[in-house]
Order: sequence, then C-alpha cells, then structure tokens
Amino acid sequence: MPIIHLEQKDAPTHYYNIVPDLPAPLQPPLHPATKQPIGPQDLAAIFPLELIKQEVSMESQIEIPDKVRRAYQIYRPSPLIRAERLEKELGTPAKIYYKYEGVSPTGSHKPNTAIAQAYYNKQAGIKKLTTETGAGQWGSALSFACNLFGLECAVYMVKASYEQKPYRRIMMNLFGADCVASPSDRTESGRKILAQDPNTPGSLGMAISEAVEEAAKNDSTNYALGSVLNHVLLHQTIIGLEAKSQMERAGDYPDIIIGCHGGGSNFAGISFPFLQDKLKRGKNKLRAIAVEPRSCPTLTEGKYGYDFGDTVGLTPLLMMYTLGHDFVPSPIHAGGLRYHGAAPLVSLLYREKIIEAVAYDQLPVFEAAVKFAKNQGIIPAPESAHAIKAVFDEAEKCKQSGEAKTILFNLSGHGHFDMSAYQDFLAGRICLL
Ligand SMILES: *Cc1c(COP(=O)(O)O)cnc(C)c1O
Repeated sequence: MPIIHLEQKDAPTHYYNIVPDLPAPLQPPLHPATKQPIGPQDLAAIFPLELIKQEVSMESQIEIPDKVRRAYQIYRPSPLIRAERLEKELGTPAKIYYKYEGVSPTGSHKPNTAIAQAYYNKQAGIKKLTTETGAGQWGSALSFACNLFGLECAVYMVKASYEQKPYRRIMMNLFGADCVASPSDRTESGRKILAQDPNTPGSLGMAISEAVEEAAKNDSTNYALGSVLNHVLLHQTIIGLEAKSQMERAGDYPDIIIGCHGGGSNFAGISFPFLQDKLKRGKNKLRAIAVEPRSCPTLTEGKYGYDFGDTVGLTPLLMMYTLGHDFVPSPIHAGGLRYHGAAPLVSLLYREKIIEAVAYDQLPVFEAAVKFAKNQGIIPAPESAHAIKAVFDEAEKCKQSGEAKTILFNLSGHGHFDMSAYQDFLAGRICLL
C-alpha cells in the first residue's frame, strides 16, 4: 500500500494549537519602540481580530471554518506515501513515509495558511492584502488564496528574484495579484532605500518593510506573513493531523519526524500533532528533526534572544533563535530557507530539547534531491531536499544498527520552478556551501 489516502469525510475539523502543551511559557513579543509586551491593539492595524486571537490562544483545538475546509478540498487531504522503492535502493531496514504537499495549486504547503489568512481577512471586511516574497512561493500562494476569496493582493518581491524568476511572478499575475519589484517607489521605505542605493538587489527585510507600511497606512488593507508566527504554524498543523490519521491507517507510528526549516512552518505542521503525544503522553523516544542549510544555520548556530523579524526593525521583537536581523545569507538555491530567525514556538521546543536540529551543505542536499527524484519521480523543491538528505542519513544509521525505525518526513513542495538550480547542479555549478 504505497499511497495512503484519506477521504474528505475524514479530514481534520480543527487545527492543533501546541501552546497549552508547551513545557515552558512562551515569551511575549515586544513593541519595537517601547520594548514592552505588545497587546492585541498593536497588531490590529495590520491583522484581523480572529488571527490576533489565534496568535495568543490557549485553546488546544481551534475549529477550521467551513469555507476554509471547502477550499482545502481542492487539494487536501494530501497523500501520504510509503517509499518502499527508496527503502530498497538505500538498503535500509527503516520504513520511510512522506507527506506530499507539492499537490497544492501553487506547489507547496504555503496555501494551507494563505487560504485561512485570506478567509479571516475577508470576514473582517478587509479589501486587500499585502505581503513580501523572496523566491515567490509565498507570494504565489497568497495570490491564489486572495483570488479565491475576492481580495486584492499586492506582493513586494525581492528585486533580484523579480528579475531572475519571471515564472513565479507570472503565476501571481495570473491569479490577479499585483507583483512589485522591491524596493519600489510606492512606499516611503522603498523610496528611502532607493535614494541610498538605486541599484540594490533588494532583500526580504526591505520587502517586509514596504508591505507592512502599505498595510499600516490603509484601513481596508492588511498584511499577511507566510511563516514564523503562531497562527501560521497553527494552520500548518493540518499536515501533521492528516498524517496522523494516515499513519494509523497504515498501522504505523513514526520514531523520527523530519522537516526542512526556513521560518519553521512546515516543520511545525508535520511534527506538532505528533509532539503532542510526546509532551502529554510521554512518548519520549519520538525524535523530531528540523533541517536547515549550513549557510543560514539559525537553530544550530544562532543565539536565543529577542530580535526583529525584519531587517529594518519595524516588526515586533520576537523571542527566537536568530542569526541577527542584519544577517545576509549567501545566495543558496533554497531561497525559502534564507531567513535569519526561527518561529518562537520551534525555538522554544529546541531550547527545551524536545526537538533536534541539523544543518547541511548545499551540494549533498542536491545529490540527495536527484537520487530521490530518480527513485520516486517527484522533483523536490530545493528547500524540501534538505529534509530528504536528513532522511537518507537516518536511514543509513538504521542500516548500520539493523534497526527498523519508522521515518516520516514532509515533502514541503515540488521543484518545478527551480529548474535553473537543477540545471546548475547537472552542469557541476552548485558550490558546496
Ligand atoms: C517557504 C518554503 C519552505 C520554508 O518555510 P517554512 O516556514 O520553514 O516551512 C520550505 N519548503 C518550501 C517548499 C517552501 O515553499
């Protein structure tokens, strides 16, 4: 039974909120100017009330609205696949399962939260959402979701990517979104940056400043973030909740759960519903591993402390592992993993040693990706390939020890828009780091 399906009627009805089960209290975000804990009113300029409530909720279960569940039905429940062929090729006694999020309309897990965020903003009477995007995965997911719920959407796309990755931009336009190269002359932040350096290639931090500024200045416009925040991780638990039902159908339970880590949302999505068993029911042997690139080693080499979410310092200060908000990672091909911080929830679990983290160089990650593609027929996103590399290493350990462990990983997206990275790999132009 290599593909374990879940019927619509058995799809999760609630998201899982890990906050009440945490082993230590979560530190509150601080106001960027006063350095005092922020209140809901501070967030109300850019987020709708329902999402602010979710951000601070202590409820374990949060109902998924009917309209969101119906929108999920376009591509959910996503398949869980037992990779028997891969197990054979690796010669491992381990059982390898993966949850495949590349079946979503834009090719990654990001629509899971984009749909929910667009819905709650629509309910609150908002007309338009703004956001930033680097490689374009989040921008295309939000464009798709805004179109579903009849919202306008403006995406500030890092200028270098805007020029180098036209297909993601065209996808956003196709869903009706306005995609702007950032920094732009539309915002004060953008104009200020351009005055200093007209030829800047842009950065995620600059694009966040522009998107937040537009949302803060317009009453009917809000801002949406694609990772890091509690409510984003909450929405992504749909992945792990489905996987839990599917593993049960397969008569199995993971010993090891693996996900790549950029801001933490897909890792949290696959692992939190299982970590609930570890936190509440003492399944102490369950290991969850977050995998990051060596060139942006937030968890493995960052410091735990308060830092800004953006480069400019406009966002609240978050308690998290961080490389510093002015950290500029080298231009690795896994654009979605190039973030200086980590979600406060993932950071706390790492600090408390509930989860593990590991970092890999770029070259072995691409080698693993190609091996996986040839074996399974799915070309993984370079981000997701980090998880695959870690799976191969754990499978090898099982081979050495003879243990038949069950490994579950999240294949967060496909790599169909990343062909130039694969072209570079095939031409021997991917550098080690
Ligand atoms: C954005 C993205 C990531 C990284 O973001 P997380 O919030 O850490 O999940 C990983 N994989 C894919 C395919 C992405 O698009």
